[in-house]
Amino acid sequence: MNCIERQDPKVWAAIAGEVARQRDGLELIASENYSSPAVMQACGTVLTNKYAEGYPGKRYYGGCEFVDVAEDLARDRAKELFGAEHVNVQPHAGAQANTAVYVSVLEAGDTVLGLDLAHGGHLTHGMRLNISGRLYHFVSYGVRPDTHRIDFDQVAALARQHKPRLIVAGASAYPREIPHGVFAQIARDCGAKLLVDMAHYAGLVAARLHDDPVPVSDYVSTTTHKTLRGPRGGMILCKARYAKEIDQAVFPGTQGGPLMHVIAGKAVCFREALTPQFKQYARQIVDNAKTLAEVLSSGGLELVSGGTDNHLILADVTPLGVTGRAAEKAMERCGITVNKNMIPFDRRKPLDPSGIRIGTPALTSRGMGPDAMRLIGRWILQVLRSPDDEELCTRVRGEVSELCCQFSLPGESEG
Ligand SMILES: *Cc1c(COP(=O)(O)O)cnc(C)c1O
Repeated sequence: MNCIERQDPKVWAAIAGEVARQRDGLELIASENYSSPAVMQACGTVLTNKYAEGYPGKRYYGGCEFVDVAEDLARDRAKELFGAEHVNVQPHAGAQANTAVYVSVLEAGDTVLGLDLAHGGHLTHGMRLNISGRLYHFVSYGVRPDTHRIDFDQVAALARQHKPRLIVAGASAYPREIPHGVFAQIARDCGAKLLVDMAHYAGLVAARLHDDPVPVSDYVSTTTHKTLRGPRGGMILCKARYAKEIDQAVFPGTQGGPLMHVIAGKAVCFREALTPQFKQYARQIVDNAKTLAEVLSSGGLELVSGGTDNHLILADVTPLGVTGRAAEKAMERCGITVNKNMIPFDRRKPLDPSGIRIGTPALTSRGMGPDAMRLIGRWILQVLRSPDDEELCTRVRGEVSELCCQFSLPGESEG
């Protein structure tokens, strides 16, 4: 019996329930993943006890000699992994990384271009209620109605018209590769700086399977817990000339003490991501997404942009007579977790949109390949065609459980 179980059975029950949920269901949320046992162990260490405001060698507290080693390892490995000139590994999460970049580049009221939330953008790219939208003047670009690819004619026109100080590229629900060089050219032409937020596809960039934003942008922000498969956290990469301002914008600009246990987890994650096995893993993520996309599309789902280049699929489910919300609920009852999502030019509302977003990073971490994807694709189609069929749901739930039994969670067999 562990300490939590003994001292705090209520919290332990919640954790145990979540362990079972993660093991017995199919996790297809595109932003989620299973981090390795080594990453999770690092996050569960005494490093959580340590205050380390400042940076390695320049702390405001004593006793930092060991956490300095961990942060230096994280920074050096991130630099090697992404070929970056400077790295800050302290942002608590992706949102905090973006806020720090904004604070270092912008004054309140400055104009910024970002991808429309309804076209695949993120809350931190100017949503009205987010600090980004409250503090700065965000102007949104979108995707083309015919191809669902980013409308670069519109980006260039908005850049000429609004003369933004910053252009933000990157997305949370965009199934295609983003050509960062085109953004860089537009930014140069209008005198803006470029931030690429690669939160979703950082793992694919690390594996050299996605266009690399680092050489062409001023700043790159990311999470470490999505395709990169590390601990929940954020990070900023930038050119050496911005290093001092970025570090100041993180601390003391927008954060206090860093989460040293998570930073140790980031160091462990970056070492894993530098291995050939990680490259293989990332390749499998993309292959799995393509296989699943083919099954879903041939079964009548309308895929945004017609398919995928990366780890995710955005599908209009209304051709099958269901809405995004109903689809999410029906699949959840069968042990398949996805999220409802707006599709570009959606005529429905965010709380009950036309689409669902499906991602393969988590199932790929369990070792699933194309055969499993074809099975899962067929289950999804069956459930969406008959979302109220209880008998079907029970059968699919059973088949999902059987499949899950064949693919243990990372580290589970090691105990
Ligand atoms: C997930 C995500 C973030 C925010 O990350 P959090 O860790 O949830 O704060 C920022 N930008 C993009 C594009 C994302 O997909």
